[in-house]
Amino acid sequence: MGPDWQIGRVFGIPIKVHLSWFLVFGFVTWSLATGYLPEVLPGLSASRYWGMGGTAALLLFGSVVLHELGHSYVALRYRIPIEQITLFIFGGVAQMRREAPGPKAEFLIAIAGPLVSFTLGGILLGLVATVNTGQGLVALWLLLGSVNLQLGLFNLIPGFPLDGGRVLRAGLWAWSGNYHRATRQASLVGQGFGLVLGLLGLGLVLGASTGLMPGPLAANGGWVALIGLFLFSSAKGSRRQATLKAALEQASVVDVMAREVATLPADLSVADAVAQHFLPQGHGGFPVMDEGRLVGMVAVQDVQALSQSLWPWRRVRDIMQPWSPAMETGRDASALAALEQMQREDQDRLAVMENGQLAGLVTRDGIARFLQLRGVRM
Ligand SMILES: [Zn+2]
Repeated sequence: MGPDWQIGRVFGIPIKVHLSWFLVFGFVTWSLATGYLPEVLPGLSASRYWGMGGTAALLLFGSVVLHELGHSYVALRYRIPIEQITLFIFGGVAQMRREAPGPKAEFLIAIAGPLVSFTLGGILLGLVATVNTGQGLVALWLLLGSVNLQLGLFNLIPGFPLDGGRVLRAGLWAWSGNYHRATRQASLVGQGFGLVLGLLGLGLVLGASTGLMPGPLAANGGWVALIGLFLFSSAKGSRRQATLKAALEQASVVDVMAREVATLPADLSVADAVAQHFLPQGHGGFPVMDEGRLVGMVAVQDVQALSQSLWPWRRVRDIMQPWSPAMETGRDASALAALEQMQREDQDRLAVMENGQLAGLVTRDGIARFLQLRGVRM
């Protein structure tokens, strides 16, 4: 996605801004300084408008952070770690490291963000209505209050991965008990809303450019179309991932593993390992045996890291990754659990063990081939 910068930490969660955030920050400041503020507070200097516009834009993004912290707070209560909160061009996202443990948790985590936005919106608009203060503050509260209400409302659109779509998924999940199917269904609704928003935005742009609608609607239409496109593509990605996970959850490691596994003796020279195994057998890595025991795993990258002039003088045991429990799985694991283990532990292959013996080898390539043969696109 490109670079992001950490700007702080709340509840131990790093808060980051993505490069694309500066674009929308600049746009919001500009439109406040040249449009909204001169209109509601006439007669101030340009530098005042820009200063106030920048401050208001920062507070708007502060509202987005509070919305994401709402999700994060509930997720943390369910002991789901939050990787980071990122602000980017379309708002914010709190990255959870795990899925919710059940439909109720999913619902509460999803609804917490919009609840924070509605509460903030209510408080700010309540202040406007009740507190008698300067015009400048009233304009700011009015702006922040209505943006928070809009933020809450927009996120309640029931298309995954928006918050409303997560609420929908929680409901479908509770209804059918099938998490991946619920994700697929809620994502399909997300694609539908993405399409609708995209067409609506396009209609506004066309209407404004042909003079049927007021000109400023064109900019809004372009924005709506972009958001629609973003929703459509992320919903499509979520649906594909859910399909893939469902296929892998039903398969066992035994279905996806290679049963004829070549192993390398630990005392073999690296030069011989390359000439007799890596090149002729075409595998990316091998389990390493010593006196009938598995002692490590050696991969192309380990060979690469060694200067070629040393290949005849080093043995496989000198360059292999020593054996660790992260490298093995049991026959009863699902293919999905094996894939998640490889991703988590940064492994490309796992030994499938049965009664202390090597029964097979699961690799990322093997899982990809399994999915390909079943017509599931990765
Ligand atoms: Zn949200």
